[in-house]
Amino acid sequence: MTTNEIIQSVPKVLLHDHLDGGLRTSTIIELAQEMKYTKLPTKDPGELAVWFHRGANKGNLIEYLQGFEHTIAVMQTKEALERVAYEMMEDMKNDGVCYVETRFAPMFSTQKGLYNEDVVQAVLTGLERGKKDFGVGYGLIICGMRNMKNTLEMAELAVNFRNEGVVGFDLAGEEGGYPPKKHIEAFQFIQRANFNITIHAGEAFGKESIWQAIQWCGAHRIGHATHLLEDITLDKNGKVAGFGDLAQYVLDKRIPLEICLLSNVHTGAVDKIENHPFGIFFNEKFRVTINTDDRLMSDTTMTKEFATAIEVFNISLEDVEKITINSMKSAFIPHKERLDYIYNVIKPGYQKIKDQLLSLKTYSNNYEETVPKL
Ligand SMILES: [Zn+2]
Repeated sequence: MTTNEIIQSVPKVLLHDHLDGGLRTSTIIELAQEMKYTKLPTKDPGELAVWFHRGANKGNLIEYLQGFEHTIAVMQTKEALERVAYEMMEDMKNDGVCYVETRFAPMFSTQKGLYNEDVVQAVLTGLERGKKDFGVGYGLIICGMRNMKNTLEMAELAVNFRNEGVVGFDLAGEEGGYPPKKHIEAFQFIQRANFNITIHAGEAFGKESIWQAIQWCGAHRIGHATHLLEDITLDKNGKVAGFGDLAQYVLDKRIPLEICLLSNVHTGAVDKIENHPFGIFFNEKFRVTINTDDRLMSDTTMTKEFATAIEVFNISLEDVEKITINSMKSAFIPHKERLDYIYNVIKPGYQKIKDQLLSLKTYSNNYEETVPKL
């Protein structure tokens, strides 16, 4: 078994994935034809995938944003939204994900007359059908946008659907110039409703953004948090010498960090993968989780993200299990359901593959060649 096969086969939990950043290119092309949308750069699924991925690379922000223009352009009917959500669930199953929290901004899908409620309902219908057919659990997170003024309305929308499968509220979009505390009303609304908050923070902007997200806006999880490294002192050998108040708080309060390795390289949040602070966060025992962010733009999967962490940061299969349990502990579904996943899906899933690897070790003389070190 190769590392990829092992990682693909074990249960994984995904907390930070954008629905509009993960469409299949074949679906985009079909939906564009149905909707008479003519702005796609190509009608070939393979070429289109390459185009999206190229745009995601650093220094090409315009193409990156154009990518979302195309995916959003085809997510304008109930049928299209349901299909995109349903196919995402199938992709999760094929990637070995047992539970996913997907997120999107419903207001972007109202260009052809749908109401926000119709949009959310259509996505939930697709997710529920996907859950039945593929056995993957889900939660939906509603995104408000930092550069828009309707975040309170989006927060209300999230709470209105809390019994239908919406599990939380997120703030997404350009960080610089749009501090999270500008949306304090939306967050206070969520807090007063005893609901869940995650905020994109510390991706393109400094630790200040993370501090505001937690201490002003009550974030329960942080999306990316890459710049938290600014609050960690390193000695000349790169070893941790001390924590600032914020980093210590995040560590002590077990605030989950939704790490997105490859996306951070593509958007330039880190200059190269070797310099990603994931390794430091993980070794210092922050509650890190591993995520995909935008599967289409970053040409990634959970299997690929973990394979990257194994290759670059030398984590083991036990570490992959530990991170997966971290993720499940941090999910926005009720505690009892989280325990159910941990004890009845995740732990047995890892035990099964460990038993298989052990039997390979026993019966193979070429263990080192058969089982890659994880
Ligand atoms: Zn994101």
